[in-house]
Amino acid sequence: MDMEEFNYLAPESFDQAVVAKSQHAEKSRVIAGGTDLLLRMRDKVVAPSVLIDLRHTSLDKILISNGVMILGASASLSQILENSEITQHFPALQTACREFAGPPIRNRATLGGNIVNASPAADLVPPLMAYDASIVLRASGGDRALPLAEFFTGPGQSVIAPDEILMEIQIPLLPASSAATFIKLGQRRSMAISQVNLTARLSMNNSDCVTDARIALGAVAPTPVRAHSAEDALVGEKLSEDLIRMVAKKAREEITPISDVRASLEYRLEMTEVLVRRALIATWKKQRRTKTSG
Ligand SMILES: Cc1cc2nc3c(=O)[nH]c(=O)nc-3n(C[C@H](O)[C@H](O)[C@H](O)COP(=O)(O)OP(=O)(O)OC[C@H]3O[C@@H](n4cnc5c(N)ncnc54)[C@H](O)[C@@H]3O)c2cc1C
Repeated sequence: MDMEEFNYLAPESFDQAVVAKSQHAEKSRVIAGGTDLLLRMRDKVVAPSVLIDLRHTSLDKILISNGVMILGASASLSQILENSEITQHFPALQTACREFAGPPIRNRATLGGNIVNASPAADLVPPLMAYDASIVLRASGGDRALPLAEFFTGPGQSVIAPDEILMEIQIPLLPASSAATFIKLGQRRSMAISQVNLTARLSMNNSDCVTDARIALGAVAPTPVRAHSAEDALVGEKLSEDLIRMVAKKAREEITPISDVRASLEYRLEMTEVLVRRALIATWKKQRRTKTSG
């Protein structure tokens, strides 16, 4: 690979990585799986003079503590797929991992890299946003926690400071009355960047009344977005096919897609409405199954 020269650091602990990041700040990049960064360095989109490798920093732990699932930023997609607690509590995140590239990339690519890369089409972000994930950034001056939805500021842009490293992603465990569905639309079934991706999550009571709703969408705006007015139109209402049709139209009105090599603006608008409808119906069905099986 033809690249600019750089110094390679492989700190033996996360604390050392944080010190190195504060010393080299703008001139440095951390590398996790390298599936995005190395291509961008090869293409000379970025040319860090210091590369800080996180491989020895034990940042890949996945655990539950005090009702919160904590995923280390370097957890790979394969690790997420193999984790039975994620299967139980956050299945839509696993669906997104399953539809992501192929096994070799899934073994290397990390959750943190997918977030910090800040692609509007990042597949793991809509499920995380629908599950109300927050993130913790660490710098030598201390930690900063924020909702994931507040992290992104534009394509490839975020609020991360040059001396910060994403340490972990936290997701509160949800009541059993909550179900979610991830859907990805790409030019082909696998190895495709999303034209539209989304996650719908619903909590409902025994009379089919929606008590909480999330609709998070990717590849339809400069950043991943929540369809807030569509969500508001669901809460407090008894779910019906008519309501879902109306809500899907609202979601379409909330997005600001562009035309690019993968899809036209018009196609994204149309498919967002179709996919929000499908995701809500699928989630409703899951809810019903949970109730009859439970
Ligand atoms: C063939 C192929 C297929 C792909 N398919 C998909 C797909 O289907 N869906 C999808 O969403 N993406 C896809 N991608 C993109 C990529 O694999 C993902 O974005 C991946 O999750 C990035 O993780 P990584 O660990 O490789 O990140 P890296 O390449 O190591 O890093 C990416 C960026 O994040 C920064 N970074 C990484 N970890 C941290 C941290 N802890 N703190 C601060 N900054 C950090 C790096 O400095 C860099 O700027 C694909 C890529 C390839 C090459």
